[in-house]
Amino acid sequence: MKEIPEAVDAADVTSWSDEVDVVVIGFGISGGSAAVSAAAAGARVLVLEKAAAAGGTSAMAGGHFYLGGGTAVQQATGHDDTAEEMYSYLVAVSPEPDHEKIRAYCDGSVEHFNWLEDLGFQFERTFYPGKVVVPPGTEGLSYTGNEKVFPFTEKAKPAPRGHSVPVPGELGGAAMVIDLLVKRANELGAEVRYETGVTNLIVEDDSQEKRVVGVRWKHFTETGAIKANAVIIAAGGFAMNPDMVAEHTPALGQKRRTKHHGVVEPYILGNPNDDGLGIRMGVSAGGVAKSLDQLFITAAAYPPEILLTGIIVNKDGKRFVTEDSYHSRTSAFVLEQPDQVAYLIVDEDHMQMPEMPLIKFIDGWETVEEMEAALGIPEGNLVETLDRYNKYAAQGEDPDFHKQPDYVAPQTKGPWAAFDLSLGRAMYSGFTMGGLAVTVDGQVLREDGDVVPGLYAAGACASTIAQDGKGYSSGTQLGEGSFFGRRAGTHAAGR
Ligand SMILES: Cc1cc2nc3c(=O)[nH]c(=O)nc-3n(C[C@H](O)[C@H](O)[C@H](O)COP(=O)(O)OP(=O)(O)OC[C@H]3O[C@@H](n4cnc5c(N)ncnc54)[C@H](O)[C@@H]3O)c2cc1C
Repeated sequence: MKEIPEAVDAADVTSWSDEVDVVVIGFGISGGSAAVSAAAAGARVLVLEKAAAAGGTSAMAGGHFYLGGGTAVQQATGHDDTAEEMYSYLVAVSPEPDHEKIRAYCDGSVEHFNWLEDLGFQFERTFYPGKVVVPPGTEGLSYTGNEKVFPFTEKAKPAPRGHSVPVPGELGGAAMVIDLLVKRANELGAEVRYETGVTNLIVEDDSQEKRVVGVRWKHFTETGAIKANAVIIAAGGFAMNPDMVAEHTPALGQKRRTKHHGVVEPYILGNPNDDGLGIRMGVSAGGVAKSLDQLFITAAAYPPEILLTGIIVNKDGKRFVTEDSYHSRTSAFVLEQPDQVAYLIVDEDHMQMPEMPLIKFIDGWETVEEMEAALGIPEGNLVETLDRYNKYAAQGEDPDFHKQPDYVAPQTKGPWAAFDLSLGRAMYSGFTMGGLAVTVDGQVLREDGDVVPGLYAAGACASTIAQDGKGYSSGTQLGEGSFFGRRAGTHAAGR
């Protein structure tokens, strides 16, 4: 399903079920933040949520928020950071940095941290030093990006900015923030209607431009129309729409060959309403979507981080990425390799099984020559790559990829083990990153750069800071969804 739903002409609407200042489509992190902020600014707010409860994909998230510039957790754990360093870092990792948005996000990051805590929780004032996907306990701070990875070490002073909610485990921590947003929305008088999906935008079309003036909704068999000064689309991404995935982010839809269960469906992160309808409705009113081909996709090799002392090679036996990269950066490089094939190779001294079984252990071999032959790597290539790596690693150096010294170690003691990082064999998972082009206040933009009056977008259906898997830092989506959701809500309330 890829079709653009028709925008309904307001002149064809015979009756309105409600009239409000701001309609918000979806109650995830971005819609909730938008609703609360619009209501706090005095607007009459109505949130329509297709599911039976608030939360969406946000409620599944582990709960990292990418924040910095000197938050209370950074200060309490002795990590100096400034908005300027954070800005330099985010600019460096973005393929097409949107300077205005990055500037706003970094300058507003400490205030946003405080706003989140004012909802009624505290990030723990503790730091987890290891390289992790999610901290093992309730530690409030860790490195969740490429801050300590070359070449970004040259561009900005590294600081940890992954702020995790005080809920242990990999999934569902952010549901706590959603519950607090629901509570705050209630206190501020914002109404939420569940099991009510928005099906179309309603526009006034006066030949000059389309202006969004409301939405059509569906509640089981009932339908209706709501008039609003502003509509904020916060309806999530499109990871669960197989047709859109096939067209824009095919790697996400790739099936996987397993040892025991044959070919299995891809593991896609999201909720069933991540069907891209929000993006498509935005387009129906004249908005333009960008970066739809960008995705976060990952099969993390660590923890344990000792595995990163090994080398990652493609099917030609060549290294292609600094192995200590944040996991989605490594994965993004894997996707660019011939046949999307890659192997992680370690020797006996550095061999441990991954804590999460995402990359597949293939086998161990007594010699590198045997391994090379078994993996189908052209003769001599792997031997040469490993010899060169080991030669410099013996001096703690990595002149080719500038891996940080902590992760540089010769791999000289057989047997050697190989793990499969190839797409279609390792267990990749991910979500989409593209969305509607918006201003710094969430106003949806047209192809010509003008705004679509009355229409806003925030969160995974908008394109703000996170642009691709190479530059992604865990916590950016919850961070930007809440931050720019707030801005959209405040701006929409002022219309
Ligand atoms: C397992 C997992 C872990 C993650 N961990 C993190 C993390 O730790 N940090 C981080 O930054 N990011 C994380 N992410 C990504 C992040 O969770 C999402 O990108 C983010 O939550 C999206 O927020 P949102 O508000 O845009 O969308 P959602 O939270 O999905 O909210 C959208 C809402 O809109 C509703 N909706 C959809 N269509 C309609 C419609 N037509 N009418 C009415 N309602 C509609 C949906 O039901 C949903 O409730 C994770 C994702 C997953 C799946």
